[in-house]
Amino acid sequence: MLTGNLCEKCGLPVAHAGLCQHCQSNPPPYRALRAWAAFDFPIRQALHKLKYRRDMGLGDALAVPLTRFAESLNWPLDVVVPIPLGRKRRRERGYNQVDLIARPLSLALGLDYKPAALKRHRETNSQVGLSAMERRANMQNAFVATASLVRGKTVLVMDDVSTTGSTLSSSAEALYQSGAKDVFALTVARALPHHGLKQV
Ligand SMILES: [Zn+2]
Repeated sequence: MLTGNLCEKCGLPVAHAGLCQHCQSNPPPYRALRAWAAFDFPIRQALHKLKYRRDMGLGDALAVPLTRFAESLNWPLDVVVPIPLGRKRRRERGYNQVDLIARPLSLALGLDYKPAALKRHRETNSQVGLSAMERRANMQNAFVATASLVRGKTVLVMDDVSTTGSTLSSSAEALYQSGAKDVFALTVARALPHHGLKQV
């Protein structure tokens, strides 16, 4: 778990309570982003397994502590939406690893689950090895949201790992454009941008 002071908005460690410098000068569109764990052993290995070996049991297992964590945040949520894969990657892998965690979590929280609410507008390049600025450019206008599923709702958008939060920012923009009332973001793990950006 990430401990100490976290930026109220993006959830990155900060020296003093409040907003980090980046969120002060350039606030992300979501209300808040939080991660349950740091992207380190053993969570990192577990997420890798989930991504490449379709371990449904592992998805259920990770959803348990994540559900408890989500409850502790006390966000006023209506609906859970996973970050979708692009069509090409979905075809190659056959499933979305985020779905394996987000679905049991939504059930446990008693929230609606809408995996079709977000779609990739276009195929984005892998974020691996990109700088924070390159990640933002890569994710710009990457998503489109279905208004009939999100209009007037407070949405929890979920991903497996976040680093700079650019994917979640881009998805939040699409959700707001389609009439979502509010957007909160939750990931299983957080890779801290100053170390390990190249490997995520
Ligand atoms: Zn911040």
